[in-house]
Amino acid sequence: MQTRGSDVIVVGGGLVGAAIAHGLRGEGLDTVLLDEGDIAFRASRGNFGLVWVQSKGFGAPWYQRWTRGSAGEWPGLAADLAARTGIDTALQQPGGVHLCLSEQEFEDRGRRMAQMQVEAGNFGLEYRMIRRDELAEMLPGLGPSVVGASWSPYDGHASPLALLQALHRAFTEAGGAYVPNAKVTGGTAAPNDFRVETAAGTFAAPRIVLAAGLGNADLAPVFGLNTPVRPQRGQILVTERARTVLPMPCTTIRQTGEGTIMLGDSMEEVGFDTRQSPPVMAQVAQRAALSFPWIAELNIVRAWSALRVMAPDGLPIYDQSERFPGAFTANCHSGVTLAGAHARLLAPMIARGVLDPVLDPFSAKRFDVPRAA
Ligand SMILES: Cc1cc2nc3c(=O)[nH]c(=O)nc-3n(C[C@H](O)[C@H](O)[C@H](O)COP(=O)(O)OP(=O)(O)OC[C@H]3O[C@@H](n4cnc5c(N)ncnc54)[C@H](O)[C@@H]3O)c2cc1C
Repeated sequence: MQTRGSDVIVVGGGLVGAAIAHGLRGEGLDTVLLDEGDIAFRASRGNFGLVWVQSKGFGAPWYQRWTRGSAGEWPGLAADLAARTGIDTALQQPGGVHLCLSEQEFEDRGRRMAQMQVEAGNFGLEYRMIRRDELAEMLPGLGPSVVGASWSPYDGHASPLALLQALHRAFTEAGGAYVPNAKVTGGTAAPNDFRVETAAGTFAAPRIVLAAGLGNADLAPVFGLNTPVRPQRGQILVTERARTVLPMPCTTIRQTGEGTIMLGDSMEEVGFDTRQSPPVMAQVAQRAALSFPWIAELNIVRAWSALRVMAPDGLPIYDQSERFPGAFTANCHSGVTLAGAHARLLAPMIARGVLDPVLDPFSAKRFDVPRAA
């Protein structure tokens, strides 16, 4: 079989790889996007769809800034994708709330947001802690158990499946080559000279981007990179459609453009186990019904679990290999939120061949630092 050459290979056709591939194609690079296929773990097809800022970057203001930057890029990305593909990604950014179901939760949340505002420094962080009475004016049918919430103007949500489809369509219609059922099973690396083997053939390029989600953990060492990601399970329930009730998303409850209410999402350390667990589903439903008692009247029509792609500290990993320049890695557990940054900020850096210093704190080198004595 002949080797297919290109300017750059992107490994992984989920939200991270597709956003980067779309951006690289936009930079004029001949781009090949390789994807394993339906049997792979695919967070991009099982997530909650928040474009979420307010809780990102506690103790890591550089992550807060990157997330805010991405939320700011989202309207441009959504408009560009709609113009190119006709697909509406259902982006709404009306602000969002994190509901607190006890005084303790409210106090803890308030402390956390205040700390993040201090950490943000001159960059600023707009938020408010809102008490129940005012919140009840904003969110109809609020349950008596809700004592208040944190609110920020930056938050929103979108349809993650529409986003994934739009990124793929925009990429291929612009001349990008998408190759499904092409799991990278091996490869060779030299500076600016990479070759990978798949069942769909051999591919070669002077640049490669590893964006294979949980698959990156195995692939990275071949290319002189380190991406110690682990799975973290999340379970989601979806109700039947309701009339439009919720004017803004909450951290674990949001109404989709179609009217269904999504209830999420657990955080479980169970390895690669993708089964659903009724006790966890019950907890998710119970918290939703405490927040909005009318939700208990709606039928659950779908439920699933999916695996997040988590670094040890929960932050993204972006790196270029020192040993094999031209090899990049990109991993995160907020691939919907960060799609704007990946397509419009990260891809141009990769096209230039240099990651901006703003991404230095996201290098996996942070895991090499010995713990302070
Ligand atoms: C329950 C849950 C809720 C979430 N909620 C949100 C949310 O509200 N907002 C938000 O921003 N994010 C959310 N996320 C996170 C978001 O879904 C992920 O950050 C994002 O999908 C990660 O995308 P990815 O492309 O890195 O990984 P994946 O979607 O896992 O895709 C990886 C791709 O790589 C391919 N692959 C793997 N190995 C290979 C290989 N060797 N060769 C070729 N291809 C390979 C696979 O086929 C797959 O398509 C949530 C995740 C979960 C699980």
